Amino acid sequence: MPKKFAIRILVLDDEPFMLKLLARILANLGYTSVSTFDSGRAALEQVDDPDRSPDLILLDLNMPEMDGVEFARRLVEHHYAGALILVSGEDERMQQSVEKLVRAHKIPMLGHLHKPATPEGLASLLEKWTALAQDGPCGAAKKIAAKKIYAADKVRAAIANGELVNYYQPKVVVATGVVAGAESLVRWRHPQDGMVFPDQFIGVAEAHGLIDDLTRAVLDGALAQIRRWEEAGLMLQVAINVSMDNLAALDFADFVAAQAAAAGVSPHSVVLEVTESRLMLDARAPLEILTRLRLKRFELSIDDFGTGHSSLAQLRDIPFDELKIDQSFVHGAWANDTLRAMFNSSLGLAKQLGMKTVAEGVEDRADWDFVRNTECDLAQGYFIAKPMPAADLPGWIQTWKTRMREDLSAGVVGEEQSRADPPTPM
Ligand code: C2E
Ligand code: CA
Ligand code: CA
Repeated sequence: MPKKFAIRILVLDDEPFMLKLLARILANLGYTSVSTFDSGRAALEQVDDPDRSPDLILLDLNMPEMDGVEFARRLVEHHYAGALILVSGEDERMQQSVEKLVRAHKIPMLGHLHKPATPEGLASLLEKWTALAQDGPCGAAKKIAAKKIYAADKVRAAIANGELVNYYQPKVVVATGVVAGAESLVRWRHPQDGMVFPDQFIGVAEAHGLIDDLTRAVLDGALAQIRRWEEAGLMLQVAINVSMDNLAALDFADFVAAQAAAAGVSPHSVVLEVTESRLMLDARAPLEILTRLRLKRFELSIDDFGTGHSSLAQLRDIPFDELKIDQSFVHGAWANDTLRAMFNSSLGLAKQLGMKTVAEGVEDRADWDFVRNTECDLAQGYFIAKPMPAADLPGWIQTWKTRMREDLSAGVVGEEQSRADPPTPM
């Protein structure tokens, strides 16, 4: 972690009083290399100076000459490599929209503060930043920009050479902590580059007609794994991610059924997660395939609910069993009225339609506590476990049981929980 005094902070606000206030708070927190500006133009000159370019900028939104939104765009043009915090009098939803925009510019965004900023609020965002700064603020920015996307022939070879492996992320019952299943998430063990994540090759596979082969490899791996776990006495429902492009070939339903039968796996043990990542030009094939899979008793799950083009239309047309509330409505919902409203309405919708619900992106204790106080059925996220190799799952279950037991005895569980029959943590 860089020493506090070594961190260069730039504050941009058109009100002299605000500049003084923020500079004083920063000085009290131990940040001494602080420069203040009341105009965006002058601030950009410092950004351009390699010896004085800031590591972090505190930015006001409403400024007469150049507003904060325009300034953020200019930062990209000036190749700014540091991070950003918004400090503004604008309302919460406005600040969130600007945060989104800044993130779209790939500038590390630490969050926003309402005016007048408090020392506590600023200190907590700065803590977050020092975590980012461990590999250097510039390092973090570069990492985002430099993500490699692989060419189609490389992806094709990886599938053919069996370099793809399934990782598994547990799903647990919110009320009891029981491990209900796991989602398979594909990884590429690249012989030179190490572990490669799906966002670096799924899109390529979809665009170049490789997604059927990829899904088939993932499905075979997952079915064999379900069988192995069952033989070891571990009954888990395993979810597989299916791309919309898989649902163009009409034999997909028969293929899945045949593979499951060959592996000796019941359709009930398999969940197919479908993301509505793009508009369906012709909805008939996906509709037929999904309906037939459901008739065969495979479970259907609508993934990333609320983020796509046609959530409600899909819900109307396809008999899903499960609804996964997208992580962008879960993580931090406890502290955000807009997110909470969306979380709750998705939950209500699913309940009315008789569907099971899963909260994705339960990332920390606060998210977990929030979800435990809702009617949501299942939870998944880093707080519970990150995706892991299949071999690690039985060991993780033991650790999780211990964590749940400690939680229960520490009385961390919700009231609902303690009134019910003594839960059997697993
Ligand atoms: P997804 O299906 O929405 O999967 C959840 C993603 O969120 C996973 O990323 C998972 O590692 C990550 N995640 C889980 N818990 C948390 C959390 O608490 N916080 C945060 N920030 N993230 C969390 P991953 O493994 O990189 O996968 C990304 C996407 O790639 C998946 O999103 C899915 O759409 C796609 N994908 C993964 N495996 C497959 C596959 O076998 N086939 C297809 N077609 N798509 C796949
Ligand atoms: Ca998924
Ligand atoms: Ca998802």
